[in-house]
Amino acid sequence: MAEKKTYERPVVTKHQSGIMNKFGSGPSTSVRDNIDGVLIKDLAGKFGSPLFVLSEKTIRQNQRNAYRVFKNRYPRVQFAWSYKTNYLDAVCSVFHQEGSWAEVVSEFEYRKARALGIPGEHIIFNGPEKSIEALRTAIREGAMIHIDHFDELYHIVELTDTETLKARVAIRVNMDVGVYPLWDRFGFNYENGEAWQAIKRIVANPRLSLIGLHTHIGTYMMSAEAYRVAASKLAGLAKSMHDEFSITLDYIDVGGGFASQNTLIGQYLPAEEVVPSLEQYADAIASGLFQLSIKPEDLPTLILETGRALIDNAGYLITTVIANKRLSTGRRAIIVDAGVNLMFTSFWYKHKVQPAQQPSVHTEDAVIYGPLCMNIDVLRDGIVLPTLKQGDRLVLNHVGAYNMTQWMQFITMRPNVVMVMEDGTVELIRKAETLEYLAQQEVLPARLKEKKSR
Ligand SMILES: *Cc1c(COP(=O)(O)O)cnc(C)c1O
Repeated sequence: MAEKKTYERPVVTKHQSGIMNKFGSGPSTSVRDNIDGVLIKDLAGKFGSPLFVLSEKTIRQNQRNAYRVFKNRYPRVQFAWSYKTNYLDAVCSVFHQEGSWAEVVSEFEYRKARALGIPGEHIIFNGPEKSIEALRTAIREGAMIHIDHFDELYHIVELTDTETLKARVAIRVNMDVGVYPLWDRFGFNYENGEAWQAIKRIVANPRLSLIGLHTHIGTYMMSAEAYRVAASKLAGLAKSMHDEFSITLDYIDVGGGFASQNTLIGQYLPAEEVVPSLEQYADAIASGLFQLSIKPEDLPTLILETGRALIDNAGYLITTVIANKRLSTGRRAIIVDAGVNLMFTSFWYKHKVQPAQQPSVHTEDAVIYGPLCMNIDVLRDGIVLPTLKQGDRLVLNHVGAYNMTQWMQFITMRPNVVMVMEDGTVELIRKAETLEYLAQQEVLPARLKEKKSR
């Protein structure tokens, strides 16, 4: 017997000016009913909604592909996972199993990497704030300390002096790579000679071994050329060190910042069409580094601290429709159960959103709101979606970078995070927060516990 089709009521769609026409982004009516073969309805049924889902398979593929692309163009390559991009233990561990070192920017991240079994020698310690205690530990454990400013250098000098220790250090260098505004707040400037000053002072100190040069020119960089400039400027410094002080560097670290396949708000064309490919970034970096004309066996290792480009597409957010609504303008609004407290990146990306069930034939321009009692709680604006019912699910993709670190506990609690494993099983990797979890941190003074007496 043929299955009876469900009745769909007709809708009248008001035409609006200002939204993309059919030559721009088309209606998003493609269905995503599974993640790596596991049904969305089963995931949400078992782990609740909203739910963050990570794909182990995609993370491994991303990392292997990136390694291959760079290794084909430069003989020695090492990745270091940028913890702040996503520091869930399960995520870091997949990267470490793939051979990545750890790149941390705080004492807390440093300790997280150590707790995951990463030895100090495989931790890159970046960032402008490193306490004396943190520096002492990092020096003792042989971490690669990337010095951000002179005050930090003096702390390291003092520590190595008083404790007769040796430190493995590099300097962070900032420079003009033709992309503005300049990121000149981190590290030592190249153009004004500050970086060279720092190098000379470090080289003059026998307790410090200068093993590398580092830069991180920005994030979501849309220009591969900027990386060629950065790599060639660092190669220039390395060449001068080689010629003047006979120092052969262990590595040159060009940081992270490759754009992911997410379209920025305000960008007309989709990311796939405007973002450089990994191959283009790699070509640019290799050609910059090869300006360092020294013997092949003396070439430094190229370190990459790629973050978002390796994890964004491995992350999904499942969310559920709470209500449909008409705004006073007649525009369609959809309220879902995940807000910008979970989706920090909604402030700058037009995330891909797909329905998880067979869509209706009608589509309409809509705005997706989260559940927060805040006007800023807009998950996605200007998206053409099919009609949705209460309880229907939507899936946001490309949410793996920064959301699971920059999310905040605000009005609602952070939900479960699961990982779909390569073998198709599903593992809970971070438990949803509970009222008890929050209450643990609070202290109610005894005098405030007393009920009001009159
Ligand atoms: C944030 C950061 C990264 C990673 O940047 P992405 O844009 O996620 O690739 C790498 N290195 C440093 C020093 C960083 O601060």
